[in-house]
Amino acid sequence: MANPSLLILPGDGIGPEVMAEVRRVIDWFGANKNLTFDVSEDLVGGVAYDKHGTPLTDETMARAQKVDAVLLGAVGGPAYDNLDFSVKPERGLLRLRKEMDLFSNLRPAQCFDALADFSSLKKEIVAGLDIMIVRELTSGVYFGEPRGIHKEGNERVGINTQRYTESEIARVARSAFELARKRSNKVCSMEKANVMESGILWRDVVQEIHDAEYPDVELSHMYADNGAMQLVRAPKQFDVIVTDNLFGDVLSDCAAMLTGSLGMLPSASLGLPMANGRPKAMYEPVHGSAPDITGQGKANPIACILSFAMALRYSFDEGAYADLLEGAVEKVLADGARTADLMGPDGGTPISTTEMGDAILAA
Ligand code: ATP
Ligand code: MG
Repeated sequence: MANPSLLILPGDGIGPEVMAEVRRVIDWFGANKNLTFDVSEDLVGGVAYDKHGTPLTDETMARAQKVDAVLLGAVGGPAYDNLDFSVKPERGLLRLRKEMDLFSNLRPAQCFDALADFSSLKKEIVAGLDIMIVRELTSGVYFGEPRGIHKEGNERVGINTQRYTESEIARVARSAFELARKRSNKVCSMEKANVMESGILWRDVVQEIHDAEYPDVELSHMYADNGAMQLVRAPKQFDVIVTDNLFGDVLSDCAAMLTGSLGMLPSASLGLPMANGRPKAMYEPVHGSAPDITGQGKANPIACILSFAMALRYSFDEGAYADLLEGAVEKVLADGARTADLMGPDGGTPISTTEMGDAILAA
């Protein structure tokens, strides 16, 4: 059988620095576990604009459609801030998500014991936390029509439209239920069915899919505002949370801060299954290009490495190897390895991006 294929798009800023550590992890699996990937690399974001005048060429887009999974570093940076909207680095990322139809965005919020003091909450509230937010990514108020700013009488009006079809809700609900079956078999769906019709439909469709296809999964519904409150009050009550694009954007950032540094958080964006049964998939750290620390060897590579662990689990069915990699991360943190973003107020000497990579490989 052919090796599984990976397209690596390191992108801008610290993207190439953290991705270099992932390359070493990939090589390690080839050398030690006989798990070999066909890896190719290409440009996205500002570096693609510099070379081709577009943040994502058609050729790169076509390659992304063909591989088993895409790994992306980060895009953007101050050098590109004044570019026309149509060629901004972020447009490359949006094009990938849209054309690959990556409708299900998985953002785990997991609190490593060694970093529990980093949370904005008390240690006992977050220690052992392990939740997964599933955010609908390709529809809802960020895409609905009509939209725009126009004049009404003598004042301006800004308009966006929240629009969800049954099938859009059903497919993200299925992806949440599937995930729950691999975890604690529990899903909480969040919307605002008390004030939004799209929320009423959301609740109905999630319940229908549950009753027809996933009756074994424990399902609850919660208004998203209460959900936000519960996330900071008692986050461990949740396992999988499924929600729409807008609420998911806000709630996942909120959940992220329960765990400490941005440099720790991975994500996966999944679409429909391809002919080989694997979902269309892109994996990337939650953080951005971090221009303030680019080129200084300070970036924490863990978010990107954990994104590869998600790829092992969700694209390649290598859950045991994902566990192995996550276990190595947990071990180095417990042993005290800290990049600069993980230094507490008491100080100490941080290690570099590469040294963190070294430590994880050794573990
Ligand atoms: P974007 O617009 O792409 O989301 P941003 O400017 O909102 O980017 P980041 O680029 O993620 O956010 O940076 C936010 C802060 O977090 C910066 O101070 C950055 O240095 C820090 N940071 C982000 N990622 C990492 C990392 N992997 N390691 C260490 N620090 C990081
Ligand atoms: Mg940002």
